[in-house]
Amino acid sequence: MAEKMTQTASAATTPAPQRATSAPAQATPGAKPTAKGAAKAPQKRKPQPRQRRIPQRTCIMCKQERPKRELIRIVRTPDGHVLLDPTGKKSGRGAYLCAKRSCWEPALRKGRLEHEFGVAISLEDRAALDAYVDSLPSEAPDPAAARPKRAPKAPKTANAE
Ligand SMILES: [Zn+2]
Repeated sequence: MAEKMTQTASAATTPAPQRATSAPAQATPGAKPTAKGAAKAPQKRKPQPRQRRIPQRTCIMCKQERPKRELIRIVRTPDGHVLLDPTGKKSGRGAYLCAKRSCWEPALRKGRLEHEFGVAISLEDRAALDAYVDSLPSEAPDPAAARPKRAPKAPKTANAE
């Protein structure tokens, strides 16, 4: 009986040491990258002034200053067109608007853009701008607006019954 006990005990303990030895072996290659990371750490301490110099532009409607990427550029091309400029690289006189209907709609309807550029926007160009405005969410900045949309799901469970 005693021999069986030792056999089962040794059988149980045998796989455990194997796992223990294999685990450190796997950890060893992983330790090398951490050593490299520690060497890179001092380099990251250098200040990066580039991050502070984010180009700022002002929305012509709400006059709010925002990072250039958050605003939509409209450009008056040299040949008199007024176009959207998603890339911000078109040549011509540019103006910036927030990507919000509350800024776009008055800019188009009240002639704010035409005043800004000093030109009449052609019907064709206006249609393109109107199409863009239609694509904008009406109440994007309001997180509360998204909540009521979940309410209609409740009646569906009632219909299932
Ligand atoms: Zn704005």
